[in-house]
Amino acid sequence: MTDEKREKIKQTRAETRLRRQSQSIRSYELKIVKNHLSRKTKQHLKMLFVEAKWLYNYILSEGKIFDFDTKLKRVQVLRADGLEDETLSHLSSQLRQSVVQRMKSSVAALSKLKKLNYKIGGLRFKTDYVCLELPQPGISYRILDKKYIQIQGLKAKLRVSGLRQLTPAAELCAVLMIKGADDYEIGVVAAVTEQLTAQASIGIDLGCTNQLTFSNGVAVSYAVKDSRTSLLQRRASKKAKGSKNRLKARVKLRKAQLHLSNKKKDIQNKIVHYLRENYGTVCYQNDSIQFFQRGHGKKIQQTALGRIKCILQSRILTPLAVDQFYPSSQLCSNCGGRRKLSLYDRVYECSLCGLKTDRDLNAAQNILAEGFKIPVEHRDFKPVENEFATEMLRYFKEIPGISARLVQ
Ligand SMILES: [Zn+2]
Repeated sequence: MTDEKREKIKQTRAETRLRRQSQSIRSYELKIVKNHLSRKTKQHLKMLFVEAKWLYNYILSEGKIFDFDTKLKRVQVLRADGLEDETLSHLSSQLRQSVVQRMKSSVAALSKLKKLNYKIGGLRFKTDYVCLELPQPGISYRILDKKYIQIQGLKAKLRVSGLRQLTPAAELCAVLMIKGADDYEIGVVAAVTEQLTAQASIGIDLGCTNQLTFSNGVAVSYAVKDSRTSLLQRRASKKAKGSKNRLKARVKLRKAQLHLSNKKKDIQNKIVHYLRENYGTVCYQNDSIQFFQRGHGKKIQQTALGRIKCILQSRILTPLAVDQFYPSSQLCSNCGGRRKLSLYDRVYECSLCGLKTDRDLNAAQNILAEGFKIPVEHRDFKPVENEFATEMLRYFKEIPGISARLVQ
């Protein structure tokens, strides 16, 4: 490498580091749409991971990670009856290099740990290769438009859901192809320049009757019914242990569970996406989910409220968590008076100022006010909020699996 080239690399690295300071790193998991894949494409994708595994294990067995010739297309594979020659016909040279590159960085990471006096093992043989890095945009992969991606060596373009999320402002840092339980994903790590677009703020009360009640009066409930997995669970447990049928039943069960959790995730992502696009600050209460679960176990499981908080924290520009001991449902959002409600009181009635309002809405408004530490005498955000409420209601009503309404 010439000095000039080295200097240039150094310079671009410094520039990148500077740029990253104003950016935040996001990761996306984009599913490759399964029912758009032809049999040939499916086979190709499968073979990519199989060949990556062959290559990885071969390099490891030969012990030449640092001087392996990536032009080499023939490897030896260990089978039950000895070694066999195989040709890497699906794995392009770029991908072969990326397998080697990953091994090199693993070794580098291990040696770093060793220097820090950690006990380390070596690289191990893999029985399954699940994550292929796609290096060099434009060569190993190309994002064609908002729906399709093309991968080197594969003629058919792959339909990928969620590509829309990658705005032109997103700068791709790494693109991976991931083998999932029964599908494939494109994992993207991107640096995004944050924009302060949304200025509005909103409070959320997370509860059991309405999973989410917003401080503008929109109440959302969703529960993904789970009648199939328990049936499949029973069926699987009745099959003889170690039998093929039991294995088959377990695969079926796993698929049903995955489907269910994807459905939940999808709904939550859509809700949080709306909040992210329209609100700069979201206030919520950091209450322990275990407390709910005592009385409403199944219902909480169906809605996975814990995850929604988790994604609020990571995706909202300014998430404001209110202390878990703040009595959000006991205080009057209008005058600050306090009274105890039983679990079954759906309406908060204040004996001091005469306020009569939905219990969860009252709590949501308290959470919003507490998030900003607004004193009682200045809590007057209702009129402004209502314009947004209609728009929000319209959006939520379009999401399948959700029921949304206005409470007051
Ligand atoms: Zn009151």
